[in-house]
Amino acid sequence: MNTISTLGSHCALQVLKGAKDEGFKTKLVCEKKRVELYKRFRFIDEMIIVDRFNEIKEKKVSDELVESVLIPHGTMISSMSKEEIDRLEIPFFGNKKILYWEADRRLKNELLKSANLTIPKSFDSYEEIDRLVLVKLHGAAGGKGYFLAWDKESFMNNFRVLKEKGVINNENELFIQEYVVGVPVYLQYFYSPINNELELLGIDKRYESNVDSIGRIPARYQDIISASYNVIGNQPLVLRESLLDEVYKMGDRFVNACKRLVEPGMIGPFCLEGVYDEDANFITFEFSGRIVAGTNLYIQGSPYSTLLYNEPMSTGRRIAREIKIARENDKLDLILSKNF
Ligand code: AMP
Repeated sequence: MNTISTLGSHCALQVLKGAKDEGFKTKLVCEKKRVELYKRFRFIDEMIIVDRFNEIKEKKVSDELVESVLIPHGTMISSMSKEEIDRLEIPFFGNKKILYWEADRRLKNELLKSANLTIPKSFDSYEEIDRLVLVKLHGAAGGKGYFLAWDKESFMNNFRVLKEKGVINNENELFIQEYVVGVPVYLQYFYSPINNELELLGIDKRYESNVDSIGRIPARYQDIISASYNVIGNQPLVLRESLLDEVYKMGDRFVNACKRLVEPGMIGPFCLEGVYDEDANFITFEFSGRIVAGTNLYIQGSPYSTLLYNEPMSTGRRIAREIKIARENDKLDLILSKNF
């Protein structure tokens, strides 16, 4: 286990740079169209070139990865079904079962509730909409396709457009959630099952098109634009220090809920995603049970990781460090999912 691999997208550069800094060999599964990009980075030792990422489920490709530890990220989740990920015969960093909970919005809410986190109200049917809601597609889509609605009619208008485009077939494929007004914040954590410790490695906010640009045009034109939530990039954020205690407590409660509901629990990076409302309460609308792309901001470490480490510690590097510690102490079983 002295190689770390991942798919060429999302946070692959950070993950493989971190792996290299920790002394691992690095392997990238790369789609043909991206080879020229990834060839620019000298810390990538080897590329496995494919037409599509889901070829990693085929023996020819998985055989080349079986000696490495594969790091999952958002692109893996959106390009493969959870069953396909489950069947992969490659040592896999993290708890694969958490990805099932992440992909299903109802299970997701159950886990957040069990962690005693405040979540926005959700609506079982569009008939019940009685306030401003955000209508979401299932799965990790980076906010793509989300729309705002405030009653049945506004819901149906947008629903028809998505249906005509062939994005969805019926209303059940959508998740209707109360829109929380406030500051959207992404809390990037790392939990080590080896030393039983939770670390806050960074915080970010996203820059989304076009909702973050609507304020740049006069109010009289804002009405004709329908808000969209497609993530374009991430911006760094530090919180008021008085909020940090609750940030750690929320992370602890989430880790404990995962231990209860999704055995053996959280392994490595995860993110709580929510909005601070006008009373500075955090309303959690999502979690990601793996590394998030907002961690790319902190390849040189973040203000929070600097408080914990006297060296630049990205989340990618922290993953590699965990694999190294597990390997040295014969504890790889605590951090890998294996189904073979
Ligand atoms: P997501 O892909 O679910 O993380 O959400 C994409 C974006 O939608 C977020 O960055 C927020 O700007 C926004 N968002 C998601 N859920 C809510 C919510 N319940 N209330 C307000 N904004 C939300």
